[in-house]
Order: sequence, then structure tokens, then C-alpha cells
Amino acid sequence: MSKQIITVIKGDGIGPSIVEAAIQVLDKVGCNFDYEYVDAGLTALEKTGELLPQTTLDAIARNKITLKGPLTTPVGEGFTSINVTLRKKFNLYSNVRPVISFKGTKARYENIDIITIRENTEGMYSGHGQVVSADGLVAEATSIVTKDGAERIAVFAFETARREKRKKVTIVHKANILKSTSGLFLKTAREVATRYPDIEAQEMIVDNACMQLVMNPQQFDVIVTTNLFGDILSDLCAGLVGGLGMAPGANIGADCAIFEAVHGSAPDIAGKNLANPSSVILASIQMLEYLGMQDKAEKIRSALADVIATGDRTTRDLGGSFGTTDFTAAVLERL
Ligand code: NAD
Repeated sequence: MSKQIITVIKGDGIGPSIVEAAIQVLDKVGCNFDYEYVDAGLTALEKTGELLPQTTLDAIARNKITLKGPLTTPVGEGFTSINVTLRKKFNLYSNVRPVISFKGTKARYENIDIITIRENTEGMYSGHGQVVSADGLVAEATSIVTKDGAERIAVFAFETARREKRKKVTIVHKANILKSTSGLFLKTAREVATRYPDIEAQEMIVDNACMQLVMNPQQFDVIVTTNLFGDILSDLCAGLVGGLGMAPGANIGADCAIFEAVHGSAPDIAGKNLANPSSVILASIQMLEYLGMQDKAEKIRSALADVIATGDRTTRDLGGSFGTTDFTAAVLERL
């Protein structure tokens, strides 16, 4: 069998250091991947004049699997988010953001294990109808929900729940107010739920879901929701387990998948050897699971868990005083 090639985008800011940490971990556990390194974001802009060069897009399409560091989107008119562009270009309709409690973090809760599955291409992020009136007094944006889009994300959520032996899917919506868009999402997700009698389907209005996540997060298992709500709820969930340093995300479509940390390029700590590489290591665990390499994924997860639980060379955000390279060395020693 030919070797799996992974497209790697090291990214901007802290990206190169944390992606390098993840690659070291993957190599140490014996993954035997080949890596094709390409650029995007500021790094690409400086080298090629483009934020997302064609060679990068070609590599993502060719190799199907990408591990990506965070990218800086330059502030200013004319720059659309590279992440949103990638999701739309490769039709990565499902954004999977799992959070689990690791003992030893400064998290407020224990025993959290929630997967947020967020529709990634429609809703308020469809990019349609973003206009401000000529006099600058009225702004509008169009939210688009399609039955097909709602159906495929709901199926993805229930299939994920079944595969991972989960018990419940919570459909989060605002159909009481957003009757057309959220209404269609809810109606479609309800229909999909009837095909999965083995999994409990629960419905929750988004404002209540926020309160419930803060009051009693252990009741949640899998959450499925539209783009904007999923973006916000998944950061809330990251906060429950100790912050963005512990939150990975996978963008999955029919043909391609991109695995990344949820956080950004952290320019305030870039180049200082301070970044916690856990999110991108957790993203590479998601990548291994996607590739059916569960045993290696589990090995890395338990090494990471042990480093954090024992506080062995942890980074500042985890309460320690060590750097990215020390933290990574502690993980590597356990593999
Ligand atoms: P950020 O996530 O980069 O940083 C927010 C805060 O969290 C900062 O204080 C940072 O130091 C800290 N932080 C983030 N990751 C950390 C880590 N691994 N270890 C320790 N601390 C960490 O958010 P921001 O500052 O709003 O955005 C910076 C840039 O990143 C912007 O250009 C933004 O557009 C971009 N961004 C990219 C992505 C992506 O590529 N997926 C996601 C979000 C933001």
C-alpha cells in the first residue's frame, strides 16, 4: 500500500512551532506518513503575493488530508477569511469540534466529553447579501439554510453518534424566532432523527443551550447546529475544558478533510516558545481517527493526558512555566 501523504500548512504566528510539535508526535508513534509542506496566510502572501496560492489548493485536493496551523487573516478590506474560503472551496460541510476534560488543566468542570458538529458552509456565513446602504445607516446579511445542507449535517451528526457509541444528539436552533432558516434546519434534523431510533434526539433553543452548558454541561453528548451557533457554542465548550489551547477541530467534506486547532495564530506569544501545542496535537488525533488509526490516536491521547495530569513541563496557560519544546519533549518521552 502506498504511503499516506499529508498536506501540511504550518501557518502563521505560533503555527510553525505547534505544527512541528504535532509532526514529531506523529512520527514518534510510528505513523510513517509523507508530508507535503505548502503555504497559506501571511507566510504565503509574503512569498507569493497570494494568501492562498494555487499550489496549496492543488496539494489539498490531491492528498485529501491536511493538517493546518492557524492562519493570520490580514485586517482590512479585500481580505476574506482563508478558513472560510477553504471550507467553501472544498465543500467541507462539517466542522467537528470535540472537547474532553483533561485532569490537571485549570478547567472549571470535570467529566466533560462533548462533540459540537457545526454546519460549516451555510447559515449566516454563506457570504450572501452582505450590504451596507449607501448612506451607511442600514446593514444586512443573508442567512441561507437548505434542506440538503441541513440533512447532510444532521446525518453526519447521527452517524458520528452511532459510530462513537454515543447516546444523545442535541439539535440546537432558534426556530421560535428565525422561523424560516432555523425552522427548516430543525424540521430536517427532526426527520433525520427518526432514522436513528437507537440514539436519543433532544431539541434545545440556543439561548437555553448556552445556559445549560454553563450550569450542567455533563448532560451534553453530541450537539448539532447551524454555522454561527456552532462557532459560538464550540468556543463556549472549549472554555469548559480549559480554553482554546485544548480545542481541536476537523473540517470534513465528502472528498477532503482539514484538521486544525480552533485557536488563531496568537501573535502576542509568537516566536517566544510559549504556545501550548495540545490543540494541534489533538487535531492530529482526530486525523488519525479519521484515517482509522485508533490505536495510535489513543496512545497519543494518553501520553498528552499524563503530561497534563502530572504537570510535567506544562505551558503557562496550563499553569506551568515551560515552553512549547519542553512540553513536546514530555509528550514524546511517553510514546
Ligand atoms: P488567538 O486564538 O490567536 O489568540 C487568543 C488568545 O489566546 C491570545 O492571548 C493567545 O496568546 C492565546 N492562545 C491562542 N492559542 C494559544 C496556544 N496554543 N497556547 C497558549 N495561548 C494561546 O486569537 P486572536 O488573537 O483573536 O487572532 C489572531 C489571528 O489568528 C487573527 O489574524 C485571526 O484572524 C487568526 N485566527 C485564525 C484561526 C485559524 O486559522 N483557524 C482561528 C482564529 C483566529
